Amino acid sequence: MPDPGMIVKSRTAGRGRIARNDPDDPTVRASIEMIDVLALPKTELHLHIEGTLEPELMFALATRHGIALPYADVDAARRAYVFDDLQSFLDLYYAGCSVLRDAEDFYDLTRAYFDRAAADGVRHTEIFFDPQTHTDRGVPFAALMDGLTSGLGDGGQALGMTSRLIMCFLRHLSADAAMVTLEASLPFRDSIVAVGLDSSEAGHPPSKFTAVFDRARAEGFLAVAHAGEEGPPEYIREAVDRLGVARIDHGVRILEDPDLVERFVAEQIPLTVCPLSNVKLRVVPTLADHPLKRMLEAGLRVTINSDDPAYFGGYIGENYAASVAALGLSDDQVLTLARNSVLASFLDTRDQQRHLAAIDEFDAS
Ligand SMILES: [Zn+2]
Repeated sequence: MPDPGMIVKSRTAGRGRIARNDPDDPTVRASIEMIDVLALPKTELHLHIEGTLEPELMFALATRHGIALPYADVDAARRAYVFDDLQSFLDLYYAGCSVLRDAEDFYDLTRAYFDRAAADGVRHTEIFFDPQTHTDRGVPFAALMDGLTSGLGDGGQALGMTSRLIMCFLRHLSADAAMVTLEASLPFRDSIVAVGLDSSEAGHPPSKFTAVFDRARAEGFLAVAHAGEEGPPEYIREAVDRLGVARIDHGVRILEDPDLVERFVAEQIPLTVCPLSNVKLRVVPTLADHPLKRMLEAGLRVTINSDDPAYFGGYIGENYAASVAALGLSDDQVLTLARNSVLASFLDTRDQQRHLAAIDEFDAS
């Protein structure tokens, strides 16, 4: 992969552009002006708050609660973040969540993510959380919501960011357990914009949760679902047809089904793609093999996101920068990705227009 670290400062580049060495001829310094992907105003739509738990905070919370972790230190924890597939990641991920016990922990977790996201140019973020990972360990639903909503409120105010919460059901657990979780969430209905579906995909098709999603939509929640990451394109179709989702999380296997691609292009159903996650969990062998660019070229409303950045080696800015370097995305394609995320968000039209104008202004600068 060309080295994105070759970016250098230029006195001639505008605010939205930085100069970069020519990857084909490193002796030609600062010959290419390209979009400053870190400064580009961004919207993030696929981010699990539990997946932002950096080892440093994991150790701090373990100390706070007197919990022994299975790692000697922060570096040992980071070295353990090597995965064979989605399941091997999930095993480690759920173990890490054991340090999240009370509202203060969720508040600290959320504030830490906001700091990282703001540094990467995120202006709006729609955050997944998995209540069952916590309520099944005895954490009260109210403590979880208190910590998350306080963190979102204070973080947003301090950094000028807006946010929404999306409650995900763990698909490896039963549909009945998801229904119990949905009912437990109803007192907090106003703090949650949508329901989602995550965890182990293989063998857990979206149709397993049809009744839960019917009920959720009747209660006024919007819907999204992970589909077509490891599972087949048929799961993507099911998520749209059976669960009534407004967008698909991942969906990278859609290219295996030309009819489905045609439909997604015609209806502009968004896909929240997470490039570094797909490499780390071996959905694709390398970033250069990633279908992101082909999805863009097919006219799909594709977006870039970070998924579980503490575990997958990069927040959204790194996902943009690494994708640009590995796939040779043009400036227009980068701007399209940023605009797609705004259009795919659950913001109302007026707020979407404000975010699109910020991208236009950035492009013109
Ligand atoms: Zn995800």
